[in-house]
Amino acid sequence: MKSFNPPIRTLMGPGPSDVHHRILSAMARPTIGHLDPAFVSMMNETKEGLKAIFQTENELTMPVSAPGSAGMETCFTNLVEPGDKVVVCINGVFGMRMKENITRFGGEAIVVEDEWGSAVSTDKVEQALKDNKDAKILAFVHAETSTGARSDAQSLCKIAHDNGCITIVDAVTSLAGCELRVDEWEIDAIYSGTQKCLSAMPGISPVSFNERALNKLKNRKTPVTSWFLDLNLVMGYWGDDAQRTYHHTAPVNTLYGLHEALVMILEEGLENSWARHQKNHELLRDGLEAMGISFLVDKENRLPQLNSVFIPKGVDDVQVRSTLLNDYNLEIGAGLGAYAGKVWRIGLMGHACRKENIALCLSALKDTLK
Ligand SMILES: *Cc1c(COP(=O)(O)O)cnc(C)c1O
Repeated sequence: MKSFNPPIRTLMGPGPSDVHHRILSAMARPTIGHLDPAFVSMMNETKEGLKAIFQTENELTMPVSAPGSAGMETCFTNLVEPGDKVVVCINGVFGMRMKENITRFGGEAIVVEDEWGSAVSTDKVEQALKDNKDAKILAFVHAETSTGARSDAQSLCKIAHDNGCITIVDAVTSLAGCELRVDEWEIDAIYSGTQKCLSAMPGISPVSFNERALNKLKNRKTPVTSWFLDLNLVMGYWGDDAQRTYHHTAPVNTLYGLHEALVMILEEGLENSWARHQKNHELLRDGLEAMGISFLVDKENRLPQLNSVFIPKGVDDVQVRSTLLNDYNLEIGAGLGAYAGKVWRIGLMGHACRKENIALCLSALKDTLK
């Protein structure tokens, strides 16, 4: 074997996004013990930083030591008990995964379906909750990365509470890329990921639970199915005043990376980060539309950080994407499900969301299509 030296790419797909060199160099700093007082104080700062970007005061706000999918599983394994009815909204790939989680943990999934590319319909959710008075949880994806559609998280949470449900929200792609206010919108349990708009390395999933979610957890009649993701145990390590006790060995250097990512977002300002994503999305949109390329998602539900666009007629999807990768070191994403071969997903996430990348993407695409 020889050392691995990856090619230098520009990552404009659905994740991972470009990792800033400040984050990469933070990760190269010396490894220390995961119970070292210096590490513990970095953990505390990390929790505070996560609270700031989630816009929450939730005590239970921490990074799960595994990727976004594990954050999803953390929410479902802790909150869904066997027999619980859960209304789950499916308008793309990640809603389907939520449903899979519900049934695997013994819950009964009531599915509210919307077309891929649409936002979740608040009317349909309201009806489903009226039809299922015994439902306990509403689960939905805020930013559907498989299509680029944004759903109205604030309204969906209000409808859920009016009908006696708590909410589980997927914010893997939305966190730091568009408006997200956990406390103001009364989101009960939320998970995200480090590899999208935080621009950090893949592999960590920030989660946050409010009192309502914690109550559901505390009043469980059955133990949490997963040992690793059981927050009762994890909080012995990440909890506040508790003597830190060993649960698992935290990914020490990866957490240096997350810490640096949070420092960078707070330096920029969270709202400035949201605004940068929007402004650059408009720049990319104008350029693509000038080339005659159109968007999958309606303007009002469109995410700035994930742009699904129709592949022009007669153009070979795979050939274009491999030319972009091989000749321009530029990665864009393929379509999923029914949109495989029909759309490209162009990410503008975190550090990748910059003017020079848009210029590269537009000119490389123009040349390649010619
Ligand atoms: C990427 C993504 C996930 C999964 O995150 P991983 O880090 O790949 O495990 C979950 N939900 C959404 C909406 C995503 O975009």
